[in-house]
Amino acid sequence: MTRPEPAPRLHGRVALVTGASRGIGRATALRLAAEGASVAVNYRAGAAAAGEVVAEIEAGGGKAVAIAADVGDADAARRLIEQAVADLGGLDILVNNAGIARDGLIFNLAPEDWAEVMRTNFGGVFNCTKAAMSHFMAQRDGVIVNVSSVMGEAGWIGESNYAASKAAINSFTRCSALELARFGIRVNAVLPGFTPTDLVAGLVAKDGGRTIKQQIPCREFASPEQVADVVTFLAGPNSAYMTGSLLRVDGGAGAALGLGRPKL
Ligand code: NDP
Repeated sequence: MTRPEPAPRLHGRVALVTGASRGIGRATALRLAAEGASVAVNYRAGAAAAGEVVAEIEAGGGKAVAIAADVGDADAARRLIEQAVADLGGLDILVNNAGIARDGLIFNLAPEDWAEVMRTNFGGVFNCTKAAMSHFMAQRDGVIVNVSSVMGEAGWIGESNYAASKAAINSFTRCSALELARFGIRVNAVLPGFTPTDLVAGLVAKDGGRTIKQQIPCREFASPEQVADVVTFLAGPNSAYMTGSLLRVDGGAGAALGLGRPKL
């Protein structure tokens, strides 16, 4: 079935997507641009990949810039927000998407792998939110969408640092939504399930992800575009009465007890 063209809902809005050179962030940048937003494409190391995202947006008639910054660094995050505002003439939407994983059993986990995951994943959300909020408060308008994970609501062997960073994002989403509502700023989070990107390549390498898929009611992974659709919904006017929400995009995984199929 061909998908109907969505009506552009974000004309005149400016968005910043962190970690937009690849994966879910890339798909989100392209989707926001398709809805009419100008987009700042943040990346850490992938300048060429970020440039390709910008080129694709421009080829579609949109406006975009690529901006390098390590979101885990508070000063860099502040400069990132300032540059996005300067280059695109404002900022209305912040998508805190950048994230990393450094998996390992707690027994073996190097303290630097614990710290780097917390610094990037949770630190990035805190730093960019803090840097953008005075701008949003001054204009009494703004939308923040945090890309968390289903892992923030459950456990998984070898992902204590990642899961803890995402649980922190979930709590921070609720708290920042409460603090910012009075300024007309909405804050929500998207909790994707397994989405085949570089981030989870190692987890699905063994059997193409078949074992994991068997445990997902929809029997399929999310595509980056399916996650981007929900991020775009939360960034746009159709979710105007939503703030402090955590939306799962997990193919039904969260609805299951998770003990396998009953013998019926
Ligand atoms: P990818 O590894 O495909 O992409 C990660 C992106 O984050 C890249 O653009 C990378 O930029 C950027 N990035 C990494 N560190 C930094 C940093 N310090 N500062 C700025 N940018 C940075 O990951 P995904 O697309 O899979 O993940 C995106 C988000 O979705 C993450 O928050 C992840 O936790 C979350 N998520 C992913 C799931 C999945 O199954 N894939 C499931 C649930 C949540 P560069 O290339 O330049 O380093």
